[in-house]
Amino acid sequence: MIDLHTHSTFSDGSEPPERICEMAAAAGCSAVALTDHDSLAGIPRAAEAARAVGLRLVPGCEVSCKSPVSRTSSASTSAGAVTGSIHVLVYFVEDPESPLGLELEALRKDRAERNHRLAARLEELGVAIDYDKLVADFGGEEGLGRPHFARALVRAGAAADFDDAFDRWLAEGRPAYVPKARITVAEAAGLAEASGGVAVLAHPISLGLDPGPLEQLVAQLAETGLGGLEAIYGRYGADERKRLSGIADRTGLVATGGSDYHGSFKPDLEVGTGLGDLAVPEAVLDALDARRPRSQPAD
Ligand code: AMP
Ligand code: ZN
Ligand code: FE
Ligand code: FE
Repeated sequence: MIDLHTHSTFSDGSEPPERICEMAAAAGCSAVALTDHDSLAGIPRAAEAARAVGLRLVPGCEVSCKSPVSRTSSASTSAGAVTGSIHVLVYFVEDPESPLGLELEALRKDRAERNHRLAARLEELGVAIDYDKLVADFGGEEGLGRPHFARALVRAGAAADFDDAFDRWLAEGRPAYVPKARITVAEAAGLAEASGGVAVLAHPISLGLDPGPLEQLVAQLAETGLGGLEAIYGRYGADERKRLSGIADRTGLVATGGSDYHGSFKPDLEVGTGLGDLAVPEAVLDALDARRPRSQPAD
């Protein structure tokens, strides 16, 4: 089995890349992808650790995208509007100087500025969190995100727990929400292809679409360069996985899968096995591999 979705301390996971590789090997995985948000920086360390335990490391990242404007939106009902988050996973890109790598750098710069504004906003709202300490503890500003702010808010007594910190302050529509820059799914897919990689729509149920509109949108995205759909997701039940795999089949996409492991930020999820029942077959990686732009040598 394999796991194509994990986060390390280079974004909002609690464990370093080496630990993720060790856990993947211990869980019986033959391959693991490191998919930190907006960052390729953990990949060299993960690759070295993977070599040491005889695991294949798939370089990756996860990018938050803008909601696409559906071509059929004028004719559709409210069920056709994306109300949730839209995340794209990109695989097989590790070069920070690649077109995708350079865009990620711009997104990280924007994230650092967003974090400053978020901290200022909380201060205005009368919630003092020590931003400099947050940055110092994390070791930088660019990988920091709302999950780290959520923890700080709990420590400061401004929220009962992690989810409450989002509900009260950080979620979209809440008082301390500050948006960050986003690219479109089509742009992410284009940058992936230009960098020798493949783009996959992550945890599709997060889009908040009914089955029909979701399939319509996925079909449109498949035309604009998407290569896969994350159907076998750690938190999805058997019925949802089957339904999403059906959408992937009908739209010509690879049905991929992973745990979305974040360590102690999402303590119920394990590398490889997710909630306990995840087992993504190795054939998924072969199918994704086959989608790489042909001018790129396969490794
Ligand atoms: P950021 O990239 O800094 O905007 O943070 C996004 C991350 O925050 C996501 O990947 C989730 O892990 C987490 N997150 C976003 N919304 C929520 C929510 N409502 N409840 C809990 N965690 C959330
Ligand atoms: Zn995350
Ligand atoms: Fe995500
Ligand atoms: Fe993720």
